[in-house]
Amino acid sequence: MKAETIRHSLAHIMAAAVQELYPGVKFGIGPAIENGFYYDFEGKDLGSLIVLKDIEKKMKELIKKEIKFEKKSVSKGEAKKLFKNQPYKLELIDELPNKKISIYKSGDFVDLCKGPHVKSTKEIPLDSFKLTKIAGAYWKGNENNPMLTRIYGIAFRDKKELDKHLKLQEEAEKRDHRLLGQKLELFIFDEEVGAGLPIWLPNGAVLRKTIKDYLYEELNNQGYQWLSTPHIGNLALWKTSGHWNFYKDSLYSPIKIDNEQYLLKPMNCPFHVKAYQSKIRSYRDLPMKYAEFGTVYRYERSGTLHGLTRVRGFTQDDAHVICEPGQLSEEVSKLVKYTLKMLKSFGFKDFNIYLSTRPEKYVGTDSKWQKATNTLKYVLEKLKLNYEVDPGGGVFYGPKIDFKIRDSLEREWQCTTIQFDFNLPQRFGMHYIDQKGKKQEPYTIHRALLGSLERFIAVLLEHYAGNLPLWLSPVQVWVVPIGSRHKKYAREIEGKLKENNLRVKLKDENETVSKKVREGEIQKIPYILVIGDKEMKGKSVRVRQRKKGDIGMMKTNKFIERAILETEKKK
Ligand SMILES: [Zn+2]
Ligand SMILES: [Zn+2]
Repeated sequence: MKAETIRHSLAHIMAAAVQELYPGVKFGIGPAIENGFYYDFEGKDLGSLIVLKDIEKKMKELIKKEIKFEKKSVSKGEAKKLFKNQPYKLELIDELPNKKISIYKSGDFVDLCKGPHVKSTKEIPLDSFKLTKIAGAYWKGNENNPMLTRIYGIAFRDKKELDKHLKLQEEAEKRDHRLLGQKLELFIFDEEVGAGLPIWLPNGAVLRKTIKDYLYEELNNQGYQWLSTPHIGNLALWKTSGHWNFYKDSLYSPIKIDNEQYLLKPMNCPFHVKAYQSKIRSYRDLPMKYAEFGTVYRYERSGTLHGLTRVRGFTQDDAHVICEPGQLSEEVSKLVKYTLKMLKSFGFKDFNIYLSTRPEKYVGTDSKWQKATNTLKYVLEKLKLNYEVDPGGGVFYGPKIDFKIRDSLEREWQCTTIQFDFNLPQRFGMHYIDQKGKKQEPYTIHRALLGSLERFIAVLLEHYAGNLPLWLSPVQVWVVPIGSRHKKYAREIEGKLKENNLRVKLKDENETVSKKVREGEIQKIPYILVIGDKEMKGKSVRVRQRKKGDIGMMKTNKFIERAILETEKKK
């Protein structure tokens, strides 16, 4: 039995329970979702009347009755009669294209649904689900529609799976990157600034810079060239690129400048195309690789904004690889290999790879799609990587590979994407002169390895529960003198560490050592060096390591060597 079938069935059972407990409710929709299900209801004061425990109890009573799920196919007219007191269901029926409508009856409850469900509720284990929360949700997610009451539940195949999920959930709450962001003074959100627009504080800015520096160095070695492009562009550009047409819902309204209209950029690509077109290109120039940390702006509904994982402005580690057909497999192979190396450096060992192929609607020629898809497959297979094919799951402009990383709580996060584009080269008329002196359209690959810095940092923080590895920690070392006579020596140590490019802070406020140590632990500082008489005399430091505590006295130079090595090894 698939967990999803159980989840789907439980959504119906929950609706049936609500119908019995709160007569007269109107039903919205009730799908299965990741880890569970929900159902939307409307009723007077429903939000304040609902008691989850009561509904859960009623659900268990219904399940014990071994209710059968019966499928029926009815005409639109019959369906409308059945749901005559259910305005939301009537709206859905009107929108359905088919003449015959599939409905499911389970006990006294009837619902529009395609299934699948369990045959009988006796297949649902009584102890493997739980109702978790009530929330407001607009009908169809639209702010102009009525607000319904949504009840969420989680459900699994057995109690063991449920317990494991609850435990991971509890851990995830402790690791919430929004809380860690505050504790470690990385970033803030401010109402007056606007929703979904993070302000990076000094510690956060250092973390961003550390990540960027690492990518700069690696990409320079791989022959990438860096670009810096504007935050707005003429509407005409976005019409040529097709963004205005295809992605209108996620664009902000145009800005009027003189007599022209401009858009906040949702993507960096058209600017990179223009850089490519600034000269006539020949086969000798290829492959060309442009990279940019480009900040883009996309509209997200306020209800979907969430810390750094869903924001309205974010920075992509964007790049475009422009090449000849003969260079494809080498370039894709480099991209995949580098992705693997980079994910490892950041401490992600588990990931899933997805290959998405041509959807029904697409641009570009069949032969290009085939060549690109074959290249992606060839590279994954040559590198002996496991991957899943998502047939028809590609975007309309080209096939792609996605890497989803699995964090320490076994959650999957979309990260790297390597994506062919047959749309932009065509729309902008990109070309190069081949060996025979003929004009050719180059292959263009978009790729973002981290995805967005914002999201990636959120994932990093939760993966490590805020205990970032030394190389990523914004402040790596605190130096804590015990008394005022140790301050001078502590300052010397601070200077030495700085000379060695370690990020260090002198904590010489007049507070007790134990208070500072506690504070350092809260801020998850990797190393705290305590300086007293003994240390001064022996040109040493007493080292406290994060999570380990006091690891003893060490010659200052020894400590510096150790810290440098640890930083270089990215441990
Ligand atoms: Zn269903
Ligand atoms: Zn792009």
